[in-house]
Order: sequence, then structure tokens, then C-alpha cells
Amino acid sequence: MSQLWIESSAFDEMLDEAVRVYPLETGGVLTGYIAENGEPVVQQILGPGPSAQHKRHRFHPDHVWQCRRLDEIFETSSERAVYLGDWHTHPDGSPRMSWLDRRTLRGIALHSEAELSQPLMLIGAGRAENWTWQAHRYSGDRMAGFDISFDVLELRSFSV
Ligand SMILES: [Zn+2]
Repeated sequence: MSQLWIESSAFDEMLDEAVRVYPLETGGVLTGYIAENGEPVVQQILGPGPSAQHKRHRFHPDHVWQCRRLDEIFETSSERAVYLGDWHTHPDGSPRMSWLDRRTLRGIALHSEAELSQPLMLIGAGRAENWTWQAHRYSGDRMAGFDISFDVLELRSFSV
């Protein structure tokens, strides 16, 4: 199984945000790079942004804030860190992708300005201090788009 590496402080930040907004949904953006062996490495996460709207089963990020922060991260990383995909929570739910999540991830793959062919979607399901995270990676369409395929990646954290 392929792996998704995430810097432990970025993982903690994501977890804190999940707990903070529970029982409502939250999320944000994953940034980092793709290693030479093809495995994604998440170095930083972005939260939802100050003007995000949180509901029980969906949230709307503060898109303007996220774009500005993404530009800053790109610049301060000497243009090495890029957008890798999204993350969000399913409070009291399952870490699998919903039908809408699949459509969203496919849309990112096909329409991303970042030309990201295999975007990630990291989903945290749970409550309070007890969360299960699952990493999904778009792996292409079979049968002209009728069957969207995804890999589940093993989530590994690391410290620098
Ligand atoms: Zn979802």
C-alpha cells in the first residue's frame, strides 16, 4: 500500500481544528510535495479560514483567505510546496468518501489550476478526542468517467 506522509505538527493542527469545530464539519487544504518514489508528503495544512461557514454535513471554506495563504506558502518555500489536495471532517461519521466527495475529488483532478493529476482527500471521522483518518488519492477514470477510481493510502506521520 502506498503511503501518505504528514508532518506531525500539521497533523496535530488538523486534529485540533476537527475538535474545535465538532459537531460541525471543518476542513482545509494540504500542501507539500510529491517524493521521488511518488508518495505525497504533507508539510503544512491550511484550516478553513476566518470566514468559513460550518454546518453539520458540509462546510464552505474562506476561499479568498486560502488562496492568499497558499500563495504565501508557495513563496516562502522557494516554490517547492504545492497544493496537494483537501482535507475535511465527517463528525460522527465514516472516513470513507461520500458520493459528493468523489465527485469533488474528480473535479479537482480534472480542473485544477495546479495540474495536479492525483489529488488527495484526507477525511477524519469521529468525535471529541477519538478520530480516524483515511487518505484517498484519485487514480483516474475507468470506462470514460463512469467508474471513478481511488486508492486508499496508509497515513504515516513524521517529525522534522
Ligand atoms: Zn466528505
